[in-house]
Amino acid sequence: MDIQGFLIDLDGVVYTGGKPVPGAQETLSWLSMEGYPFRFVSNTTRVSRQGISRRLAEMNLDIKPETIFTPAIAAASQVRRRNLSRIFLLSTGDLHSDFEAAGLVISWDDADIVVVGDAGDNFTYRAMNQAFRLINRGVPFLALEKDRSWMDTGGLSLSAGPFVAALEYATGRTAELVGKPSPVFFQMALDSMGIAARQCAMIGDDAYSDILGAMDMGMAGFLVQTGKFRQEILTALPKPPTALLPSLAALPAILKNRDHS
Ligand SMILES: [Mg+2]
Repeated sequence: MDIQGFLIDLDGVVYTGGKPVPGAQETLSWLSMEGYPFRFVSNTTRVSRQGISRRLAEMNLDIKPETIFTPAIAAASQVRRRNLSRIFLLSTGDLHSDFEAAGLVISWDDADIVVVGDAGDNFTYRAMNQAFRLINRGVPFLALEKDRSWMDTGGLSLSAGPFVAALEYATGRTAELVGKPSPVFFQMALDSMGIAARQCAMIGDDAYSDILGAMDMGMAGFLVQTGKFRQEILTALPKPPTALLPSLAALPAILKNRDHS
C-alpha cells in the first residue's frame, strides 16, 4: 500500500484528557516537513472549528481551523447542498457559529431541518420535545454523531447517540449520520487533500468509527493505543487494523520501516 496522506483523529490521538499526547506535535511537524498532506477528522460536536483550533493552541498544538473537519462542518455543507437554510440545532457551546459561517440560520419553530449534536445540558425536555415535533412533521433529521459515550474529565459521559436514539424511537424515523464513520464525511476530508481513499491512512483511537470505518472505504487503518483504546476492543474486532501504534509519536518510525520493507 502506497500511503501518501493521512486523516488524523484529534481526541485520544493528538491530545487526551486536556493534554497533548507526548510527541504528537513533533510528528505533525515531521509529516509537514516530509511533504505528507494531512487533515483532522473529529467527531467533536461541542465546539466550532475555530474553537477547536484555539483550544489546541492552548495546549501548544499548532493546528489551523481549515484543516479540521467536524460533523458540523460536514452538516453545514450538506444542508446547503439540499438548498435548505433554517436549522433547528440541538447543540452546546459555539457550534452554531459553524452553521452561521456557512450562511445558515438557526431557527426554533420554523426549521426546515433538525440537526442533533452533543448538546450536554441543552438536552432539555423542551428542546427534545421541539425536535420530536419537527421530525414528526416530516422535517429531515441529521445526527452529527451517534456515539454512545465519551471520556470527559469527570468520567465516561453520555454522548449524542442516546438522545438521537430517543428521537428515533419516538418518531419511528432514522437519523442520517453525518460524522465518522460516514463515508461522505471521510470523503470530504480526502477531497480537500486531493487524494483517494486507497492512498490514505486513518489514524484513530476508536477501533470502529475511525479504523473499521476508514478500512471499509479502502483506507489503511492505524489504531493508536492512547485515548479510549482498550486491549479487549482489539481482540473483539472482526478484522485487525492495518497497524497498531503505541501512540501518534510512533508514526515516523512505522513509515520509515515501510519504506525499507
Ligand atoms: Mg478519538
